[in-house]
This record gives sequence, structure tokens and C-alpha cells, in this order.
Amino acid sequence: MSMMASNAKSSRMSESGAPFSPGDPVTALHGVGKARAEILAKIDINAIEDLLWHFPRRYEDRRRPVPVGALKDGEAALARVHVRKISAPPSFVHGKGAPRIPMKVHCFDESGELVLLFFNARWLSRAFSEGGEYWVYGTPRRDLAGATMTHPDFEEITNEDEGREDGQSGKGIVPVYPLTAGITQKYLRSLVRAALPAAALVDDALPSGLTRERRLAPASYSLANIHFPEDEHGLNAARYRLVYEELFLLQMRLLYARGLAASEETGGRICAEGVVESDAASLFPYELTGAQSRAISEIRADMASVSPMNRLLQGDVGSGKTAVAAAAALFAAKSGYQTAVMAPTEILASQHAGEFALMFKGTNARTALLTSGLSAAEKREVREALKSGSIDIVIGTHALIEPDVVFSRLGLVVTDEQHRFGVRQRLGLQKKGTAPDTLVMTATPIPRTLALMLYADLDVSVLDEMPPGRKAVATRFVNSAKRDAVYDFAEREMEKGRQVYVVAPMIGDEGDMSGEGEGATPGVGDEPPCDGDAGVPMATALGLGEELAARFPHRCVKALHGRMKTVHKDGIMREFAAGDIDMLVSTVVIEVGVNIPNATMMIVENSERFGLAQLHQLRGRVGRGADKSYCVLISDSESELSIKRGEALASEQDGFRIAELDLSLRGPGDLFGVRQHGLPEFKIADPAKHIGILAQASEDAKALLACDPGLELEEHAALRRMIGEGKGS
Ligand code: ADP
Ligand code: MG
Repeated sequence: MSMMASNAKSSRMSESGAPFSPGDPVTALHGVGKARAEILAKIDINAIEDLLWHFPRRYEDRRRPVPVGALKDGEAALARVHVRKISAPPSFVHGKGAPRIPMKVHCFDESGELVLLFFNARWLSRAFSEGGEYWVYGTPRRDLAGATMTHPDFEEITNEDEGREDGQSGKGIVPVYPLTAGITQKYLRSLVRAALPAAALVDDALPSGLTRERRLAPASYSLANIHFPEDEHGLNAARYRLVYEELFLLQMRLLYARGLAASEETGGRICAEGVVESDAASLFPYELTGAQSRAISEIRADMASVSPMNRLLQGDVGSGKTAVAAAAALFAAKSGYQTAVMAPTEILASQHAGEFALMFKGTNARTALLTSGLSAAEKREVREALKSGSIDIVIGTHALIEPDVVFSRLGLVVTDEQHRFGVRQRLGLQKKGTAPDTLVMTATPIPRTLALMLYADLDVSVLDEMPPGRKAVATRFVNSAKRDAVYDFAEREMEKGRQVYVVAPMIGDEGDMSGEGEGATPGVGDEPPCDGDAGVPMATALGLGEELAARFPHRCVKALHGRMKTVHKDGIMREFAAGDIDMLVSTVVIEVGVNIPNATMMIVENSERFGLAQLHQLRGRVGRGADKSYCVLISDSESELSIKRGEALASEQDGFRIAELDLSLRGPGDLFGVRQHGLPEFKIADPAKHIGILAQASEDAKALLACDPGLELEEHAALRRMIGEGKGS
């Protein structure tokens, strides 16, 4: 790591002797008052160290100034110029409807002339002085009239700046930060710069042995260089170290917590003793798939051991997770324990409740539904039965977490679509029993290698096999020129007695995303919609409902959305399930879990408004019966991302491969992607991109805990503090 040693000049940071410590509030910095502090708090910057951990989104390379005469049209560049003249716009043109005349700053260097344009910023005229010398950075336009830059970044060159190449003047590799309204790049840069001396005082969470072995840059060096890199090497070393640190701390947190849980196990109990896997077979009218049988025997083994089960069941839509959950519930019931199954929406909960009721009909186990949609009397009845123990399996929404829900012997907690719940909700339900077995189910396909590491606190079972007879859903990606033909095709399906789903991104013309107020259910906005589609008109469930009802007067067309009353929604779902509705027009309320085998066509309007994983889930609503099924994505968006998503779906059925594609389509550092998978948010790491570092960090974390499970060694003190506080990542 000779590079590190040679770059030890970064210690100029510590030499300066910080007058504040990392934990001090930002108001300790010069120029930060109460108002600014409140704005900064919006982007989670409260203490000085939060500034250090507020990493740049990207950098601008402003090391090599370009002579004005050589500026290229459209290519961002740094120039070093003298100001000849400033011409403010005449004041009489101000006001509404007046032509926009910018302030002009006429500049030059020995190679040519450059005009800087600033609109609506007369006050800026004071920022320039005629005869002064400046760094300007921006995207030049070059035409017959000469070269201009609109709203460039600029900074006056003073004598002290000469020779500095560290991004602290306008030059160097300059950080570009995520901002919030009321804060400018320049201001934030100056704050981070002011906070940098604190970097030398930050606790290094990584034990020195590990830092040496993995050749990682020290914390203080990395924090300084991630903001104002000395050069590419400095930036790369800093980034590597911080990515490693973030992933290592994540692994440590998960594994350490798990180790603690294992050592504190008091409520451990042997469940499912004397039951055999084949007991479950009687619940189902079909043969289990190999993957289902495997998952069920893994679960049975977990339940039969003293330590509580902590298992993630991952399976693509339609892979048959419900059956696995039912088997687990049967094991619990046979051993005298109750099961709670929590689903994210009322529709899903009642559908599950229906399925469970059917499956358990031939057994002694009693099932019930508990959602906030029930009447007060019904709810009271279920609660009492849960308390007395006369109900064995309760299926519900987050209504299950409410304090007045008390179990007599809760032994198993199942959470469906776990990414829709926070960890807190999951734990809230778990607390209602004594160390109950836990099964979390997700249809969000995460590449297995990732899942194993990112859910280090869970064991993972994967349903990587579809029930037999499942056919690929023929998928087309078209523009609205084909819309008529698509609906003609839908008519032919309905003619055959089949049913059709139509999904729109919004409810009505209210302008907000369909947000679907079903508790924890995130709306469309969960994944980034494609950019540059502002001009594309958007279909709404209500608008389409009317249009299609008029188009198909001989069919039953109904609209469904999340703002409807639950009873109303459930009523419509029941009618659709019973086959009384031919065409269901809805928002993403139908996204998760609903299972109607007679529905053979899914039409998604404005498909650019949906993420890839979400489209895959929507498509999973069809192809559940014996008939050939179709999915049509309609979009006029020309955004590349939208087109790639459409093509990916048209050519790929496998959820896991789609997930991988999805990860590769997302830009680096795309936090939305992470959120979609229900994973923690990362500041700098991108688990899809940094999978090699993740594997290393995971291995290192395990090795470290194997030597020092309680993190009691002196050299691990900082690490223990760090994972306890949840700081730094
Ligand atoms: P998931 O929740 O994983 O998306 P479901 O549990 O809703 O999937 O199952 C999808 C459909 O497949 C249901 O209609 C279910 O009855 C059926 N199914 C599940 N397992 C099998 C199997 N082994 N053989 C045939 N059909 C199955
Ligand atoms: Mg399901």
C-alpha cells in the first residue's frame, strides 16, 4: 500500500486541529444558523460527522482548464478567464411577460472570448468584478455569435489559490452532492470543506489487522478523499475503503445480532415433533413440486430444533409459497401452537384466508381472518378466540400487530411479501409470542448470492421450480398505435369466457401517483419511473374504466383502486374471482398475490411508469390456469430505460434473471433499487455492483466473529460501538 504512504499528506487535515468534534451539531460551523441547520436536517445532516458521511453523488473533473478558444459545444469544461465587462439586463424589462434578458459577463483569455449568461440573477453582478480572474465550469454553447455558458459554476481566483489542485478552489476533482431545496452545491461544498478537520477524529471502525490485511485506506484519509480527492488514486482508494466498510458493517450487524439472539434463546421450544412432512400433503389437491418439498422439510427441521426458525422463503410469483406456509402452519397446529400470517393488503389477506380455510377444512385446525375491514363485533370475536386459543391460524393485515391482539400460544409468524413491511412491523408481530418461529416470504427475486449475504440474519429457502403446467405468458411491448388491436384481442379473449386485467398508473386525474393507501403498500413511485416522460399523457383507472365500459357495452367492465372502501374493493375482487366481471381496470392494488386462474390477459397502460420488478409481478397475475395467457405493455415513452424494461419482459420469464437484468439496468448507486428489494439503504455501496467486495466483507465478518463473538477484544471496541449505534452506514 505504498500509495497510501505517499499520500500521507492528507494529514494536513488533522494538523489543522479541529476546533470541534465529529459529534458536534452543524451549528458549530461558521455560517450555519438555525434556519440552515433545519434545511440540512432534511437530508439527515445534523452533526458535523453527518456532513462527512454525506457522500458526493458524482464528481466533476476540473483539473485541466481548457483554453476558451478550444471549448467544444456541449462538452462541460473548466476555463480560466478574466472578466472584461459585466452587463446587467435593463431593469425596465422586468416583470411578467417581459422577454428574458440575462445578465452577461464578458470574459476572455489569450485564446478567445466567452460570455457567461445568468437569467433572473441580477444580484450575481456583485459576485463578479471587472478585471478579476475566475475559474468557470459549465457546458459551453458555441454558435456564430461565439461561445457562451449559461449559469456556470464560478469561483474567483485569489493569490492563495495558486498551485492548489485539491478541489478546494474551483479547480481539481470537484464533488457534486445530493441537495435539498434551499442548499446550493457551493454552500454544501464549503460546509464539507469546513467539516473536514473532524475526519481525523472519526473513530476507525475497522480493526487495524483487517485494514492491513485487506489493504484498506484509513478512515480519515478516505473521508477526506471521498469529498476532495487528491487524484484518481486517492478517490479510488477512498471509495474502496468506504464501500468495504459499509458492507462489512452491514454483515457485522446482521451476524452479531443473530449471534446474540442465539445466545439469549430462552423461548426455544421444539415444535413439529412427531409430525412428518407427508402430513402436509393432505392439505393440497396437487403434488408438491420438488422445490416446495425441499422448503417444507427445511422448515420442519428448523421448527423441530430448539432455536427459533428465522427463514426467508423466496419464490417467484406463482411458485406456490402459500402451500409452504400452510404446511408450516399445520406443523405448528399439530404441536398445539398458533400461527399468524400477515399480508400487506386486505385483498391479499382475505384471499389467503380463503385458501387456508379450504386447505384446512379436513383438519382440526381452525382458521380466521382479522383485518381492520371487519366490523367491531367480528374483530372482537376473533380476538377473543385468539386469546382463548380456539383459533389456530389467523390471517390478517398489520391489524394483527395492534396491542389488543393477544395470542394464547403463538408459535409461528409468517409474513407474506416481506419487503412491504418494515422490520419493526415484523418484530412487532414476533413479540406477541415467545421467540416464535418466523417465516418471511417474498416474491421479489434477488439473485441467490446476494440474498444469502444481504439476509445474513435469515436462512434462505428458494422455490426455483414452478408448479407443473405453468406456461410462459406471451408478452408484447407495443406503442399506442397498436392499442386498438390490443383491445380487439382482449375482446376475443372475453368472447372465450376469459377475463382481462387492465392496469393504469393512476387512479383519476388528481395528478398524484396511485399511492394506494393500503397501509404499508408503496405505490408506483417505489421504483424510479423512467425519465423524460413528462409529456406522455397518462392513463387513469377511472378514465380507462369509463372508456372501456363504453367500448365493451356487452361486457362487465369495472374499476378498482386503493381509495375505495375495503368492502367495496373486496366486493369487486369477489365478483372478479367469481367470473362476474369480464374486465377489471385497476391501479396496482392487484399487484401482489391475487390468484384468478381464469384471467388470461394483462394489459398495462403507460408501462413506463412501472418498474421492471413490478411489471413482472403484474404479469404474474395471469398464466395461472390451463389456458394460454398474454401480457401487453403499452407505452409511448421513448426513454431508453423504459424500452429496455419492455424488451426484457418480452424476452424473459424467469424472475431471477429479470432481477439480475433489473439490477444491471439501474444506474450505480441507485438507492431505489435497493429499497425495492426491502434491503437497507446504502450510502456508497451498491450490492449488485460490489458483489466481490460484499463476499469478502461477509467472509471477514464471519471470521472476526468466530474469534471474538462478543466483540470483547480491545481492538474491536470501536467496531462494537459502531454497530451498536448504527453509525456510518
Ligand atoms: P405465490 O404466492 O408463490 O405467488 P401461490 O401460492 O399463490 O404462489 O400459488 C400459485 C398457484 O399455484 C395457486 O393457484 C396454487 O394453488 C397453485 N399451486 C401451488 N403449488 C402447486 C403445485 N405443486 N402444483 C400445482 N399447483 C400448485
Ligand atoms: Mg403469494
